[in-house]
Amino acid sequence: MITKKSKHEIKLMSAAGDIVAEVLEMMQNIVKPGLTTLELDEIAERIIKENKAIPAFKGYRGFPATICASVNEQVVHGIPGENTVLQDGDVISIDVGVIYRGLIGDAAITIPVGDISAEVSKLLEETNAALYDAIEKAVAGNNLCEISGAIEDRASMNGYGVVKQYGGHGVGRNLHEDPFIFNYRTDDPGPVLKPGYVIAIEPMFSLGTGDVHELDDNWTVVTNDNKYSAHFEHTILITDDKPKVLTVKS
Ligand code: MG
Repeated sequence: MITKKSKHEIKLMSAAGDIVAEVLEMMQNIVKPGLTTLELDEIAERIIKENKAIPAFKGYRGFPATICASVNEQVVHGIPGENTVLQDGDVISIDVGVIYRGLIGDAAITIPVGDISAEVSKLLEETNAALYDAIEKAVAGNNLCEISGAIEDRASMNGYGVVKQYGGHGVGRNLHEDPFIFNYRTDDPGPVLKPGYVIAIEPMFSLGTGDVHELDDNWTVVTNDNKYSAHFEHTILITDDKPKVLTVKS
C-alpha cells in the first residue's frame, strides 16, 4: 500500500532532507585521497546528531554504520572501515538516511576522489542526469513505469549496465515503503502517482554489465565484472505541480 503523507509529515521529511543534504555537502567537500571511509562515517554521524536527528541506516537490519560507503566496483551498501583508505582515481558512493522526529530523508551521491578518468567522470554525470530525467517524470497522473523508463533510457543511450537487483522505493515513517521502483522497464505500468506520495529514486549504473553480487559481509554489493559503478538518489514529493526534491537544502 502506498501512503499519502500529511502536510505535517512532509514538513518533517523536508527537515530530514535538509540534514541529509548537509551531510552530503560536507562529504563532497572533504573527500580526498588518504581519508578512510570510517572517518567519513564519523563526521556524518556527528552532523546528524548535532541536528537532533538519528542515522536511519545504523541498526537497520543490523547495518553497522551511519553511511553506506561504496568504492569503485562496490555499488551500494558498502560498510565504512578504517582499512578502506581512499585513493586518487577512486569514486565513492555515499548513501545516507536521516530520521527527524520519526520521518525519513534518503539520498546518495557518487563523489570523485582526486583525479578520475574521463570515462568514469562521464558515468557519474550521466547517472546523476538519469536521476533528474526520472524526477521530471515524478508527476501526479504519471504511472510509476515512466520513472523506470527514463532511467533505463539514459543508461541505454550511454551503453551502461543498469543494476537491476536494487531500486528506488517509497519512504516516510519507514525507510523502505511501497512502491518498489525498478531502474528499468517491466511489463507492469505500476501505480498512478498521486500528490502526497514520497519516493526515493536511485539509479545505479555500471561501466560493465550491471550484474552484481553480495560480498561475504552480507552487505557490500559489487559488480561481477569489477567495473566501476555510480549511484545517485533523492527523496521526492509528488505534488499538484512540479515534483519537489526534499533532500536539498530548503
Ligand atoms: Mg534509498
